[in-house]
Amino acid sequence: MPTFDLRTISLFDGLICALMGMVLLGMRRSLPASVGGLALWGVAPLLALVSTVFYGLEGSAAPVVVLLGGNGMLLACATVMMAGTQRFYGETVRWRPWSAVGLASLGGTLIFFQAWPDYRWRLLIFTLGMSVICGAHTWLLWRRGSGFAARLAFAAMLSQTAILLLRAASTFWIDQATTRRFDTVSTLHTVYLASYGFVMILVLVAAQLMAAERVRAEFEHMATHDGLTGLLNRNRLLQLGDAELSRWRRYAQPFAILLIDIDHFKRINDTLGHLAGDRALVRCARTLSQSLRACDRLARFGGEEFMALLPATDAPAALALAERLRAMLERLPAEPDGPACTASVGVTVVRATDTSLTGLIARADAALYQAKAAGRNRVVQAD
Ligand code: GH3
Ligand code: MG
Ligand code: MG
Repeated sequence: MPTFDLRTISLFDGLICALMGMVLLGMRRSLPASVGGLALWGVAPLLALVSTVFYGLEGSAAPVVVLLGGNGMLLACATVMMAGTQRFYGETVRWRPWSAVGLASLGGTLIFFQAWPDYRWRLLIFTLGMSVICGAHTWLLWRRGSGFAARLAFAAMLSQTAILLLRAASTFWIDQATTRRFDTVSTLHTVYLASYGFVMILVLVAAQLMAAERVRAEFEHMATHDGLTGLLNRNRLLQLGDAELSRWRRYAQPFAILLIDIDHFKRINDTLGHLAGDRALVRCARTLSQSLRACDRLARFGGEEFMALLPATDAPAALALAERLRAMLERLPAEPDGPACTASVGVTVVRATDTSLTGLIARADAALYQAKAAGRNRVVQAD
């Protein structure tokens, strides 16, 4: 039966965590700045390693140095780790309240070390301080986290908090005031010491996965959305259109597409400047998406051209919606005191002869051309 030395396990856990912290610090250089919190997540395990070194000095350094160094660094690690998560989710990092919790806990342990030396009170006060910080971190992950990595971090922090609270409760079963950290006084005490580093490793793995998930989501967003207006891009809408066509073949529920082109947009650029033209495009995009139903999808199809995909919509409903969009745009000046920003709209509904989306788009384009030829600022349905 192998025997485990808690002091050695703690040291190895600390070293592994520190290595993972360095990986996080390295990731910070290669990942986009939008992935916040990596530096704090990277520094936290280094603080935990310093605390392990302090605890390892028990017996050879002054006890007060071991106490303040070990506990202080562990409280700092928990606080910095939570600050990393706050930064990751774009929340303001609030150092003061959490530093106050850490300092109060450290001050309490110092009092019960110098004035009333009793390991049990020291343990209780320190463990409660850690529980408050880890509990707040758990709550933050529950509140903001989504996806596998954040759920993993949440589960790890929740078990950490639970073990800390149980350890605090177990204080009442320790019957010697002179007990020291690595004495095996209770199973919970041993579980805490053995699991702390393991849970920390899990949290750091989760942090790396969270960063990777964030980068993947950002790339996916860039690949499917238009940078200026934030609408879907042409490729994404074509994919959704193909899916809609398959659904129509299966369930025979008609869908419609609208091709919306801003009238005389070149003039807006020429008279107000290209930047004002950009702003006008953003305003048109916002107005159009606000006027559509939740199930409809809107994309920037080209320069000043938008396409709307309207599921479960027949010809009269599509015409009514197109007319509503046209009227909304007509009321929208290109700039606050600028010229109007009208649009022409080509409308078509799926037909039995349609085998691909290209046919629908060609029909909508032809209708749009007719709307332009007939004087613009109007809706035309495809023949
Ligand atoms: P029509 O009524 O016939 O549609 O006239 P138009 O001027 O809108 O059409 P045209 O196709 O001649 O011009 C489209 C203009 O849209 C030309 C191009 O410079 C401008 N444009 C395309 N993309 C952008 C963009 O991202 N920002 C700005 N500011 N202008 C753009
Ligand atoms: Mg135009
Ligand atoms: Mg155009």
